[in-house]
Amino acid sequence: MQPPFRIGLGYDIHPLVAGRRCVLGGVVIDSPVGPDGHSDADVVLHAVADAVLGAAGLPDIGQLFPNTDPSLRGLDSARIVERAVKEAAAKGWAVGNLDLVVLAERPKLAPHVPAIRTRLGGLLGVSADQIGVKATTQEGMDAVGEGRALACHAVVLLVKA
Ligand code: MG
Repeated sequence: MQPPFRIGLGYDIHPLVAGRRCVLGGVVIDSPVGPDGHSDADVVLHAVADAVLGAAGLPDIGQLFPNTDPSLRGLDSARIVERAVKEAAAKGWAVGNLDLVVLAERPKLAPHVPAIRTRLGGLLGVSADQIGVKATTQEGMDAVGEGRALACHAVVLLVKA
């Protein structure tokens, strides 16, 4: 028996370095440090895409967008989320809601949460009201706490379209 909903979990972490453009949840944030990686390194969108793909029983983003593919260097991660949503839709699934926890000592995310919710709603085809975004620090512990990394946990509910 297939229930009319599926849950998915996504997680991502990237190093935080000086001089990199900082884009989180598809929103460019004015910051002296940004996440480093092969694509634009948007940890939020990577976690969201993996949550959607996992819920739909699809391969993860590492398989769909290999970080060894030179054509994907600097990729706008919105393209990754759009592909995840499209592939889930092809299997008959639509996003019900999304909830996130962003782990970051810096930059401070609170002022950007409304813009991130709106942007994620647009990418997932839902209203901002169906998007939860929480930010927390690691209280000075580990790489995130020392300001050397950014991480994100995402959970998504897909519903039968
Ligand atoms: Mg990533």
